[in-house]
Amino acid sequence: MTVSRPIYLDNHATTRTDPRVVEAMLPFFTEEYGNAASLSHAFGTQAAAAVEAARQDVAELVGADPAGVVFTSGATEANNLALKGALRATTGRQHLVTCVAEHPSVLDPVDRLQRDGHDVTRVGVDRYGRVAADEVIDSIRPETTLVSVMWANNEVGAINPIAEIAEACRQKSVLFHSDAVQAAGRIRIDCRGQAIDLLSLSAHKLYGPKGIGALVIRRGAPRIRLQPQLDGGGHEAHLRSGTVAVPLVVGFGRACRLVLESLESESTRISELTGTLWEGLQRQLEGLSLNGHPEQRLPGNLNLSVSGVDGDALLAGLTRIAVSSGSACTTADPEPSHVLAAMGIDDRLSGASLRFGLGRFNTSDDIEPAIGELVNVVRRLRAAPAG
Ligand code: PMP
Repeated sequence: MTVSRPIYLDNHATTRTDPRVVEAMLPFFTEEYGNAASLSHAFGTQAAAAVEAARQDVAELVGADPAGVVFTSGATEANNLALKGALRATTGRQHLVTCVAEHPSVLDPVDRLQRDGHDVTRVGVDRYGRVAADEVIDSIRPETTLVSVMWANNEVGAINPIAEIAEACRQKSVLFHSDAVQAAGRIRIDCRGQAIDLLSLSAHKLYGPKGIGALVIRRGAPRIRLQPQLDGGGHEAHLRSGTVAVPLVVGFGRACRLVLESLESESTRISELTGTLWEGLQRQLEGLSLNGHPEQRLPGNLNLSVSGVDGDALLAGLTRIAVSSGSACTTADPEPSHVLAAMGIDDRLSGASLRFGLGRFNTSDDIEPAIGELVNVVRRLRAAPAG
């Protein structure tokens, strides 16, 4: 007997690598295995050409200059390079502004910079998980080097007022960084004409492979100076030493091209599926609350709290759907979600919250069974005597 696998609804944690991406990568393991820095022979030059083509594709996804794309091992590394790189490029005590609802790969480097002696302002979020542009802008001081605000939140999908914040930073000559991991591939990001200095991306959130990402650095004047966080052979314009992961880079590029082929239609389709899921659940269950903005939210995101049930029992009971509680990105962290807490949701309700993330490989066939599973498990738990 084959055990059927749960329906995958956890696309904020990661996405399935698109088979077309896998296909594009394969020759770079088997035949085109050259080192992209070995320019004295055809293996190397072909690998280098493939890396440059992928660099163009990644740049195109976000409307950036390919020369500013620095490949990294993922967005955790890109965020570390942006934050530590920018502050460590200048000496003296500096100030940076970020937001309490950021991903740990921003919050933790910021904590380290604070321990190193820099000043930090962490702005809060509203009950939908969004930052207020005014609050960020008002926190900027003469000694502020950098502002970092995520494009969209990984737990509740809240989309932040990035254009406004970025423009204010430009006016005040402060660097602006955004972790765009969850937004890229789901909504249109266009750096053209926008004051985005630094942008972090990750391939595995947009149907590419795990282990590859990029920091996209604005080109032109005034020049952005970053201190490399890995010293070595000087790869990636001396900003990220280490042999370039050619197959992964090629997959990342292909993934970006695929996203651009159908960004708007996919975003509409996935929003509709998410709407159907939410409406179906509300029709059949009392005591559900949406954690997130009704509109300014990523397509595919549905974070909800279920009253009157224990969170652990809820997650354990859901065997037919793969969803996560709060955020899957903080490894084995039993603490209540810092994002839901910042939105003012109490620990009990936050403990019984689920994050659905719908994506490219979900279809309408997934929705009814997903509703049925949650409805059954919640009814069973609510009917069981408390104890
Ligand atoms: N930022 C956000 C908003 C994320 O959701 C994630 C992945 N959970 C990361 C950064 C880290 O990305 P990576 O897995 O590529 O290191």
